[in-house]
Amino acid sequence: MMDLRWTPAEDQFRAEARAWLEANAPREPLPHGDTFEGFPVNRAWERRLFEAGWAVVSWPREYGGREASLWEWLIFEEEYYRIGLPQRVAQNGIFLLAPSIFEFGTQEQRDEILPRMAGVDDIWCQGWSEPNAGSDLAGIRSTGVRDDAAGGWRLHGQKTWTTRGAFATKLFGLFRTDPAADRHRGLSYLLVDLDQDGVDVRPVDKLDGDAGFAEVFFDGAFAPDSAVLGGVDRGWDVAMATTGSERGLTLRSPGRFMAAAARLVDLHHRIGAPTHDEQGARDAVVEAWMDAEAYQLNTLQTVTRLAQGATMGPESSVNKVFWSEMDIRLNEAALRLLGSRAPLVEGAPDAVDHGAWMSSFMFALAGPIYAGTNEIQRNVIAERVLGLPRK
Ligand SMILES: Cc1cc2nc3c(=O)[nH]c(=O)nc-3n(C[C@H](O)[C@H](O)[C@H](O)COP(=O)(O)OP(=O)(O)OC[C@H]3O[C@@H](n4cnc5c(N)ncnc54)[C@H](O)[C@@H]3O)c2cc1C
Repeated sequence: MMDLRWTPAEDQFRAEARAWLEANAPREPLPHGDTFEGFPVNRAWERRLFEAGWAVVSWPREYGGREASLWEWLIFEEEYYRIGLPQRVAQNGIFLLAPSIFEFGTQEQRDEILPRMAGVDDIWCQGWSEPNAGSDLAGIRSTGVRDDAAGGWRLHGQKTWTTRGAFATKLFGLFRTDPAADRHRGLSYLLVDLDQDGVDVRPVDKLDGDAGFAEVFFDGAFAPDSAVLGGVDRGWDVAMATTGSERGLTLRSPGRFMAAAARLVDLHHRIGAPTHDEQGARDAVVEAWMDAEAYQLNTLQTVTRLAQGATMGPESSVNKVFWSEMDIRLNEAALRLLGSRAPLVEGAPDAVDHGAWMSSFMFALAGPIYAGTNEIQRNVIAERVLGLPRK
């Protein structure tokens, strides 16, 4: 039988996190972190979180954490989103890169990178996708050419769809360092300073109007030997570990969806449902709530397995398909409640909740694409979880 109760120590952890957040979280909702006005405001808030020891609860104390268990991390996430705080501008560093730094990094890399990441001195972005390498990531053409005299790699090529690239100071990217090797083998995982000659970051407009999205061009930029994570030409294995974090546990904790489901129920209480769609819209709200609960229970089960020593394997793809499609359904349920007011975006006088539901719906539409498209995840599930034959 599964015991679904928290321990007294975990309840105490929750009470402490809640008390700190209630006393310190900004009173007004933060502006969106991927806008030029919103980014510095969110960064300042996340700095505060770090200074109080709440930015990276599960990390070692020497890097700004409090050595919390995975359970306590989940509890913190629940409390963070419950109070209405947004996704963090430091998230791609903290939730994607950091687990790979802990696993593959040298002591020097950990000491140098992790405290600055947690303290938002550095904002990290993910430089993997290229115009001809998305689903087929091994098709990467950006190169790192050996520069023995300088002791490192000269970078050339183009990365695209770089989330928060316009605001980031650092990029973790895959570059082809051995053009003669097999497609998956000749890649290195490089930790690149964006503030240098030979780097050109060009913002790309997104449907939801956010300004952080970018393309990043390299023309002779430099990455020293100390910036290789996990060994020269061994980048594929490190990247696969990072994708496990992105699709699996850390990027999309259940707290975020439970908070969104609670806001949806609150919306229903406040505005009801359009008379022509009352039953259907109400059912959609209930289903969204149940999805969020199911996701939480599934995550608790995963954490139980991880705590017993298991590792996250290809089943992280099941997770990714579920959270990305759940997010769309949840936001669609809100748009059904809003009926004819759904298209009113921020700035429209009659927009409910400042048009937040339409913006989060538009962001949710990208969920089945980023972190590897859901078609690719379904291929992974078919072949590696269910053991079906490759076609
Ligand atoms: C909001 C957003 C943020 C992103 N942020 C980042 C980021 O920070 N860093 C980064 O590196 N990338 C980022 N990406 C890029 C993302 O990882 C890619 O868009 C994704 O991997 C798909 O690659 P692609 O766009 O080249 O599409 P393609 O690979 O060209 O795919 C096009 C279509 O074909 C389908 N398809 C392709 N191959 C197969 C196959 N074998 N079987 C079945 N269907 C297939 C795909 O599912 C898709 O529907 C982001 C994307 C979005 C939308």
